[in-house]
Amino acid sequence: MDFDLPEEIVEKKKRVREFALKHFDMEKAKYYDVNEKFPFEIRKKAMEEGIIEYDPWALLVTIEELFTIDAGLGFSVFSPFFGNENIMLLGTDEQKKKYLDPVLKGEKIMGFAVTEPVAGSDVAGIQSKIEKKNGKWILNGNKMFITNGSIADYLVVLARNAPPPSPEKRHHNMTFSIVEMNWKGVSKNKLTGKMGMRASDTAEIIFENVEVPEENILGEVGKGFYIAMQFFNISRIYVAAMALGIGQGALNRLIRKAGEDKEFSSSEYVQFTIAEVATRVEAARLLTYKAASYLFQMNPDPVLTSMAKYYAAETGTYATERALSMLGLDGAVTELERMFRDAKINEIWEGSSEIEELTIYRMLMKKYGGI
Ligand SMILES: Cc1cc2nc3c(=O)[nH]c(=O)nc-3n(C[C@H](O)[C@H](O)[C@H](O)COP(=O)(O)OP(=O)(O)OC[C@H]3O[C@@H](n4cnc5c(N)ncnc54)[C@H](O)[C@@H]3O)c2cc1C
Repeated sequence: MDFDLPEEIVEKKKRVREFALKHFDMEKAKYYDVNEKFPFEIRKKAMEEGIIEYDPWALLVTIEELFTIDAGLGFSVFSPFFGNENIMLLGTDEQKKKYLDPVLKGEKIMGFAVTEPVAGSDVAGIQSKIEKKNGKWILNGNKMFITNGSIADYLVVLARNAPPPSPEKRHHNMTFSIVEMNWKGVSKNKLTGKMGMRASDTAEIIFENVEVPEENILGEVGKGFYIAMQFFNISRIYVAAMALGIGQGALNRLIRKAGEDKEFSSSEYVQFTIAEVATRVEAARLLTYKAASYLFQMNPDPVLTSMAKYYAAETGTYATERALSMLGLDGAVTELERMFRDAKINEIWEGSSEIEELTIYRMLMKKYGGI
């Protein structure tokens, strides 16, 4: 068993770190956070310098490294292709050519729209409808908290193609489609005032009698819920990497301070805290890499994935809170304040911590409950 990453991935980590150190200055990060703007310039630079590679391990360590320096700027580098895996795995050749290729080349921005005002954790509770009327698919409904919602060119949207057949089968009859944002009947409302990740764009989307061509139906009609769950198996790994990066970033700032300030590091409380944060960050890394390794070998383990996402997210919040507290005013007026706010979202999106815990419990009971 080898716990070391392959040489080319270690090299990739180094290159991404150099990129982030060069382009992510903290004044810039503060500007985009305070003004709640998407940092298009950072994304452009990342594409020009070939920072994004679609090899799964390269992407994982890229996310981890970018978030170690700054979460808001880091997210802008790869969030424009959020949800692309659905087209990659299920799209027709035409859909891949029209919608996937431009996103991967950095020419277009996409998003993934599942959450609604009435349904977040409970995906089976969505109420948006995509129904066939006179031979045409018509989409109606509201989506809430959609990343890239006001800057995207298109979204992958989950809606009901028919009512659920029974209360026990609420997750049946859901269908994904690719919806272009400039189509008639699509409107958006940028949401501001989020706690963290303010450089990331978030919007409410409204669909009013939107005509969706047959060729834009993504995957099998009626199987959307399963497609969403398959996607979460992938996206949760990358969220774990985001949280891990933030945790490592907080730890780095604590270590830097301890190295520079002898009075600070002479406190045993500081020493114990750094040891505790470092241990948790390393444990989060081991879980994330282990879950990733199963996924990347096309054998995802939902228990490990949920453990990684849950533990890394809590660790990111814990590490930034500890660093903020230990550094006092130094933390409160520097990027640590932003990092603390940015960390929290990883406990919410792509499955809240409680949902990850329920998944872990239910899967374990399914596997071992009979013992
Ligand atoms: C900045 C941001 C960006 C987002 N981007 C996207 C996006 O691009 N696409 C998208 O589709 N969604 C997106 N979301 C939505 C996100 O995935 C949801 O917020 C999340 O799934 C939680 O749903 P909810 O907010 O409706 O909370 P709820 O589901 O109402 O949950 C509220 C609380 O109750 C708990 N809870 C819920 N059900 C249970 C249960 N059965 N047992 C125990 N506890 C439970 C939750 O853990 C949580 O603490 C985004 C959200 C934010 C804040």
